[in-house]
Amino acid sequence: MGNELSAIQGWLSEATTAFTACAERLDELDAAIGDGDHGSNMSRGIQAASTMDWATFDTLAKATKQIGMTLLGTIGGASGSLYGTFFLTLASHWPSQINTPRFTAMLRAARDAVQATGRAEVGDKTMVDPLHAAVKAMESADEEAPLAVSLQQAVTAAQAARDATRDMVAKRGRAALLGERSVGHIDPGAESMTLVLELSLRHLADLG
Ligand code: ADP
Ligand code: MG
Repeated sequence: MGNELSAIQGWLSEATTAFTACAERLDELDAAIGDGDHGSNMSRGIQAASTMDWATFDTLAKATKQIGMTLLGTIGGASGSLYGTFFLTLASHWPSQINTPRFTAMLRAARDAVQATGRAEVGDKTMVDPLHAAVKAMESADEEAPLAVSLQQAVTAAQAARDATRDMVAKRGRAALLGERSVGHIDPGAESMTLVLELSLRHLADLG
């Protein structure tokens, strides 16, 4: 369990640095097709989460739940409730011992919850696109594959799905207001979700 807690602590610590570093880029992506605040929103939320009192958590699931609650309360905007839902769902599905099939089931539940909340379909140019691609890649991974392998496949698929949002017409969120003019820009939420998955590969892969 100590291993799991230090993994999520490492995740959060690097997420704080990474989201601070890319806040400007995410704001720029959002400025092109939205209102320019996605990077500021994410870095504010992750920074708030990073001040959590770790002494009060004895499981990774409880820490993940607290991350979700904090993001829900501090990010605001569309992505606040979506990322809050994402982490709360991961928390409620976290198994006692993680492996590839269980991680797949957990990520699938999180994707379903995000879709139920935001009603975005795959291809609507949102954070759902890389998340769905990651789930599909995990589903096609060998059940016996170590997480380091299956999560790497998930990240590679998410990166491709993120890049593919550039050519899509936005159907959800503020970007949908632009219609065809949203084409030509990567979706900021797809970029941030891909970063979340990349961080997970780096910090959670050793757990199973
Ligand atoms: P806001 O749009 O309220 O300013 P953010 O800028 O923080 O919120 O987040 C925008 C991102 O949220 C988008 O790039 C998109 O990926 C995601 N998003 C917005 N609406 C939805 C939705 N209905 N379903 C899934 N994702 C969405
Ligand atoms: Mg915005």
